[in-house]
Amino acid sequence: MNCSYTDLMNTMCRKVFLDAPNIGDLEKEYLAKAVDSGFVSTAGPFVPEFEKKFAGYLNVERAVSTQSGTAALHMALYELGIGEGDEVIVPALTFVATINPVVYVGATPVIVDVSDETWTIDPQEVRKAVTSKTKAIIAVHLYGNPCDMDSLTAISQEYGLYLIEDATESLGATYGSEQTGTIGDIGCFSFNGNKVITTGGGGMVVSDDEEKLNHIKFLINQAKDKSSGNYHPEVGFNYRMTNIEAALGLAQIERLDEFLMIKRKFNEIYKERLKGTKFIRFQQEHESAESCWWLSCIVFEKKVDIPLLQKKLKEKSIPTRRIFMPVTEFSPYKKYKRAKLKNSYHIYENGLCLPSSTLNPEKSVYYVCKVIKRLI
Ligand SMILES: *Cc1c(COP(=O)(O)O)cnc(C)c1O
Repeated sequence: MNCSYTDLMNTMCRKVFLDAPNIGDLEKEYLAKAVDSGFVSTAGPFVPEFEKKFAGYLNVERAVSTQSGTAALHMALYELGIGEGDEVIVPALTFVATINPVVYVGATPVIVDVSDETWTIDPQEVRKAVTSKTKAIIAVHLYGNPCDMDSLTAISQEYGLYLIEDATESLGATYGSEQTGTIGDIGCFSFNGNKVITTGGGGMVVSDDEEKLNHIKFLINQAKDKSSGNYHPEVGFNYRMTNIEAALGLAQIERLDEFLMIKRKFNEIYKERLKGTKFIRFQQEHESAESCWWLSCIVFEKKVDIPLLQKKLKEKSIPTRRIFMPVTEFSPYKKYKRAKLKNSYHIYENGLCLPSSTLNPEKSVYYVCKVIKRLI
């Protein structure tokens, strides 16, 4: 049978989803308001309202919305004055959108390995990679799991580096008493369709530095100086979020706690049910951290043919995704591979991301565990 999005909760249409967004009545209500108001583009009340709600959730003063997480990262690097001749340390194991903005600003990416336990950038590798040209570190909270922020903060202070957080996958994750994204100099979020919350496509920048945030807000609006008759004193960008997107975002942030509870529960079920399988290993949290478990992913510590397993799971209607391919595999970044990056490659080659969409009922998660155990 043909199932529309609204039929998903109907048992006849029930499927298992990897990372599909959870859009309900509240989202439809706000979207209708945005459309009915005529403010479908970048003007309109939902943009400041969403920014305010988002900042409040993170317990920061201000947040600036952008067109995407990639745009947020681009603006973070640009605003910090990073450019030609500068080096930026990034992890090998991440989505390529972490590293592309480093090249947009003309800087050189320095690619280091991740920790085998947390799968996030290894502070010891970062320390080894620092040179006189290093300007910043991008800490990626991979799959929602916070980096070792104590060590990264110490290194950035010791060498006078900026610490940028790629929190695009980690909304709601915490480190100590702080939300990820609010610890470094600038934090970047994404609201792409598959992230913890979605605006269809969008992003957010947060920082304690009010001046920098105001300047980013100005830059992303074509650097338009409204006070002097729409004069453009700098090269600007068009990286704004639309009112329609922000309407969706406002509804989603109001439901964030609900999503986080479900994702944590799914991770508990996966761990409990697959724990007995000695050769399955989970991403570990740093002792001060709590992941938001955007995606629950595993690594097999025995030889498993991952593509074949994925095919067999798909036959049982279970969608999965491979771990990110290390960025050093892509043509533009091959030349930056200076070390073996053993952990990144091991996790990529032997890992798998499991269905984590909040649309899934708990019993689907039990079903996924049962099928995996049977297949391997
Ligand atoms: C999604 C993502 C981004 C980019 O966000 P977009 O909103 O898709 O541009 C950047 N880094 C990581 C690690 C991501 O997962």
